[in-house]
Amino acid sequence: TDTKPHGRMQHTMASKGFTIDFSNKCIIITGGNRGIGYAYSRAVAHAGARVAIIYRSSKDAHEVAENLGKEFGVQVKAYQCDVSDAQKTTETFSLIDKDLGPVTGLIANAGVSVVKPALELTSRDFHKVYGVNVLGVFNSTKAAAKLWIDKKYGGSIVITSSMSSRIINQVAPNKPLTQVFYNSSKGAVSILMKGLAAEWATYGIRVNALSPGYVNTDQTSGMETSVLEHQAKTIPLGRFAEPYEMTGQAVLLLSDHASYMTGGEYFVDGGHLIW
Ligand code: NDP
Repeated sequence: TDTKPHGRMQHTMASKGFTIDFSNKCIIITGGNRGIGYAYSRAVAHAGARVAIIYRSSKDAHEVAENLGKEFGVQVKAYQCDVSDAQKTTETFSLIDKDLGPVTGLIANAGVSVVKPALELTSRDFHKVYGVNVLGVFNSTKAAAKLWIDKKYGGSIVITSSMSSRIINQVAPNKPLTQVFYNSSKGAVSILMKGLAAEWATYGIRVNALSPGYVNTDQTSGMETSVLEHQAKTIPLGRFAEPYEMTGQAVLLLSDHASYMTGGEYFVDGGHLIW
């Protein structure tokens, strides 16, 4: 018989099998009303979670939340909040905790880009991109961590970074896609994730990043056809992803099956970074 503690633990986990049941979870998703964020909202609602969708300005966000709630028979509510505003973000998270909580997980997903050659970029563009992609993620993760540390609860945070944290996308051979603030903001948020994971592990809070390759959303729909075609050819799986294809990894990271996963960046990119 195996008398080692780790041996017994492995046996207990294995006997539970692999199920995803979020009926005791409440997840906040920033930018959860459209694109990849909406796919996350659907996936966690489907798994039984109560869902708080944070949006910035889309007028239909409340209707989106209401429809999801009806479809999956769970509570889904939309909250207007600009995540670049620290105070508003803290207040909104406290409100959600009272309304739908206790909050158990966060997907810090809201992100924006400015596509321009570097020589045309301005300070205003910098603040627009970094204000959401880095400061907005920091404000969201800090607001969630504060809720949990007070209650001695170890929640799970997933940050949507990007494969752009590692590479500069090419439009055509030797011609970069000009969004250096976006690319560098994703590099920043990926290392921010590792720092938060290191600092908050002591509280039992796990922090990971999911880094998509190209995904068909409003963010990519403005790209020229020739650019889209060139990009698709550079992806081993030969196509852009659909938003729902990001959800398996996110759900896993939010679940108790990921109890030993923190500080990791997981690329869901159709093999793009192989090259
Ligand atoms: P979309 O442009 O489709 O949606 C962006 C979402 O973020 C919207 O819900 C928007 O709300 C919300 N948002 C933007 N700014 C703020 C803010 N200041 N406060 C609160 N919410 C805000 O984006 P995607 O779904 O394409 O991207 C989602 C994430 O995935 C982003 O972080 C993006 O960088 C990343 N990503 C996307 C890729 C892609 O190919 N699409 C590839 C790699 C990473 P509202 O509707 O109210 O404006």
